Amino acid sequence: MRRTTGTAEKDGTRGEGPLPAALSVLVGWNGLTLHTPDEWSPVAVSGEGRQGYVKVVGPDTRHLEVKWEQPKGVVNVPQALERYLDRLRKTARRSRMELVVRTKPAGLGRLRPDDQAPIAYTWEAAQKAVGCIWHCGHCGRLVIAEVVGERDDDLSIARSILAGIREHGEDDWITWSLYGLTISAPVGFTMEKQVLMTGRQQFQLRKGGARLQADRWGLAELALRGGSVREWYEARERAALSRYAYRVEETVLRGHRAFRLVGRDRWWQALLKLARVPATLTWPCFFMQGYLWHCEASNRIYALIVEQSRRSTLLESVAARVPCHA
Ligand SMILES: [Zn+2]
Ligand SMILES: [Zn+2]
Repeated sequence: MRRTTGTAEKDGTRGEGPLPAALSVLVGWNGLTLHTPDEWSPVAVSGEGRQGYVKVVGPDTRHLEVKWEQPKGVVNVPQALERYLDRLRKTARRSRMELVVRTKPAGLGRLRPDDQAPIAYTWEAAQKAVGCIWHCGHCGRLVIAEVVGERDDDLSIARSILAGIREHGEDDWITWSLYGLTISAPVGFTMEKQVLMTGRQQFQLRKGGARLQADRWGLAELALRGGSVREWYEARERAALSRYAYRVEETVLRGHRAFRLVGRDRWWQALLKLARVPATLTWPCFFMQGYLWHCEASNRIYALIVEQSRRSTLLESVAARVPCHA
């Protein structure tokens, strides 16, 4: 967590102002969050634990790449940048191009808090990029982020994108956000599976025996055709729900009429989980709680299902943090 440059290690104020209205797309992966312009979409997310990678492409020839790692021991940001640029130089040389690099270029000052020891840079070869490297003393992440485009692209948006990247979550909550589905989960949950389609997104996260599943469907009015969201959901998810014995109560969530599911695994599902204990060495959670609601403002249907211990308040905390509408 130490580094040789930079000063204070405290997680100081981040100079957070309102984001430019143009940066409307939220991408969140394993603690890192960023905003890109409308119509940009994440095409690659990977990594867990100490490393990660996110790539978001624009509708034109521009894209954003963010790589991070959590190096052990002393971190030297200028040296890390040099190592990275050396790799780029080798690639450029192979295609007989020269890599023209400028560090701390005009117009890219004060991009990140000083205590992150940031170094802004640009490079130009067959393509060009505006980037920044920094190390966060709070989370220990060393981040390289750059907006890449063709040589005649306007990369002026890079400044706000790079300045808006948060490389760690707040208060031990991690934001996961792709294709419009945004949920926050406590630190330690990892993404096990994701479904990302235009009208339908799903995240499955796990931490030990606890499981958290979030679903979001678009075009709700059309799907429901005036019918009940509960009937629609129970018909649609019949197979997945058949593993639980549960009851449903009506309630209110974020101003919406909502359904609360409370139950537990059926005996055969519990046996399946117990059979896996020797392999996973994790005691399973047999209790289930969930929320289902139709967000009229955004015309989406949301479902949250949590498998947890009987007294856990995980579902309530997660549900309170789902930004289904503005
Ligand atoms: Zn950090
Ligand atoms: Zn809503």
